[in-house]
Amino acid sequence: MPPTPPDTSMFDGVPLVDHHCHGVVEQRVDRAAFEDMITESNWAAPRGTTVFDSQLGVAIRRWCGPVLDLEPHASAERYLDRRAELAPEEVNARLLRASNIDRYLIETGHRGDDILDPAGMAVRAGASADAVVRLERIAEQVVERGGAPSDYPDAFRTELREQLRGAVGVKSIAAYRIGLDFDPARPSDDEVRRAAAAWFSEIEGGREIRITDPVLIRFGIWSAVDERQAIQFHIGFGDPDVDLHRCDPLLLTAWLRLTRTSGARVMLLHCYPFHRNAGYLAHAFPHVYCDVGLAINYVGARSPQIIAESLELTPFDKALFSSDAWGLPELYHLGAHLFRTGLQSVIDGWISADEWSAADGERLIRKICGENAVVAYGLDRSPAHVSTGAAA
Ligand SMILES: [Zn+2]
Repeated sequence: MPPTPPDTSMFDGVPLVDHHCHGVVEQRVDRAAFEDMITESNWAAPRGTTVFDSQLGVAIRRWCGPVLDLEPHASAERYLDRRAELAPEEVNARLLRASNIDRYLIETGHRGDDILDPAGMAVRAGASADAVVRLERIAEQVVERGGAPSDYPDAFRTELREQLRGAVGVKSIAAYRIGLDFDPARPSDDEVRRAAAAWFSEIEGGREIRITDPVLIRFGIWSAVDERQAIQFHIGFGDPDVDLHRCDPLLLTAWLRLTRTSGARVMLLHCYPFHRNAGYLAHAFPHVYCDVGLAINYVGARSPQIIAESLELTPFDKALFSSDAWGLPELYHLGAHLFRTGLQSVIDGWISADEWSAADGERLIRKICGENAVVAYGLDRSPAHVSTGAAA
């Protein structure tokens, strides 16, 4: 049996960039709310069961307990009791700082008012943070401001350009709203105006402002292509608002052909259980990158297997790290911890099998942890960089 956890000294001094995550909540969290944030289900665990009895729940008790002064494997009740003794700011600061994530790329489009913004995260984590803006949210903001459907294409493009002055990339939740089997072609401005007119009249009829029209969602994505952006796509595993069978990244193949030489970079997020398909796309298309964030936390002790599978076809220049954490600081700490130990154990296995040299291991860890994200997002010329070593 190899020692557990593996010696991760290869990561010492290696910057870690979390290229897709959200902010933490900063209020007290009761058990129901905590369990709600450690599952992708929209519904509470059935009576008599607990979300803690999952790979993620066990991993939290094992790895986050000691950061809050508990012994490893303390019960869920003890864990939550101890957590409640500390101020939310203290819990957040301890776990975020223990994660040793150096730079957070924070997508602000999901319940952005409930979580810390990039500047707040930078302070709490003692790290750097940048914003990633959500295309579908920008569309809704344009409509919230009013205006005529005929102006929508230019109004969206102007708003996108404005928001990109303070962001390093964009995110699309097309997978949630229309599935990835969308028409890959660029819609014309006339098509967009007609779709906008239909949307505006639905809103006037009393519907909430929520973009679901495929033409408008495709227009947002193509507008980001025109801005030569890093475009994050939700892929695969997520809450039951997605039809998982319509979240296979292979459904993007025709669109990837159309955008190959555009200058945009395509970041396939999460990808589980389609991470091998994502690896194929990253292998085949020069502008495609991928990660297995979110999945790493949810598969817990099985994460080395998923990390190994994600590194079968994915070029090592195209593999990225993300936690996809939202709300709980535990999810950042675990995401980073399981990624480091999982990647280390996978690489250790290849080194001890005489497949890899230790020098290759060290070099490729540096790329996957941060260098690839710096190149893909142009972080060395980032406009939104917020950096602080200030205490929480
Ligand atoms: Zn996310």
